[in-house]
Amino acid sequence: MTVELFRDDAYIKNYNSRITEIVSDGIILDKTVFYPEGGGQPGDVGIITINENDIVVTGTRYDNNRLVHLIEQPNALKINQDIEIKLNWKKRYSYMQVHTCLHLLCSIIPAPVTGGSIGDARGRLDFDLETKPDKEMILNQLNELISNDYLISISEITDDELDKNPELVRTMSVKPPRGSGKIRMVSIGDKIDYQPCGGTHVNKTSEIGEVISIKIENKGKMNKRIIINLLQ
Ligand SMILES: [Zn+2]
Repeated sequence: MTVELFRDDAYIKNYNSRITEIVSDGIILDKTVFYPEGGGQPGDVGIITINENDIVVTGTRYDNNRLVHLIEQPNALKINQDIEIKLNWKKRYSYMQVHTCLHLLCSIIPAPVTGGSIGDARGRLDFDLETKPDKEMILNQLNELISNDYLISISEITDDELDKNPELVRTMSVKPPRGSGKIRMVSIGDKIDYQPCGGTHVNKTSEIGEVISIKIENKGKMNKRIIINLLQ
């Protein structure tokens, strides 16, 4: 199993790692800072360096619980080779800002989330909601929460505790991963938002910067899409 360093510290940008397995479209490492595509957040891209040669990592994905770093011609590499891995940090940090801002959006819209997506300086959540909320109000509330500079913290609860508090799960389409007995919880401030999440977040809300615009689209009688755009 790859040690997923980004779970405990989302700010590690590069790391010395080792190849443990080679598959048809990529490599698996003993430790990584690359987030695999999941929960609406894109897989990280970046560079791996072997003997001073740079190889582009075009993406990252899970394959049977293995975290695969997608590269061209993985068969040219060898198991146990030492490599340096380096994130495209500009992109990843933007995902962290958008992702954290979507948690804030969750906190001000009291409705279940039916879907979502994270991009560069831009993201969206779909809510099980009949009437469109007020755009200006959302924009102002988000920027106020951002400027209050709340800390983001990670903790754990057991599967049992989550079963007893099903309202903690906000996203209907993405179920928290089970199996280890523990669920990773993300909290903003004193539970301004508190929900299971495996993604990467900034350390404090001021790092999100500023929401410059909000768009709301009608995606059905009980489905409203809220799109946020951050200052780049
Ligand atoms: Zn999250």
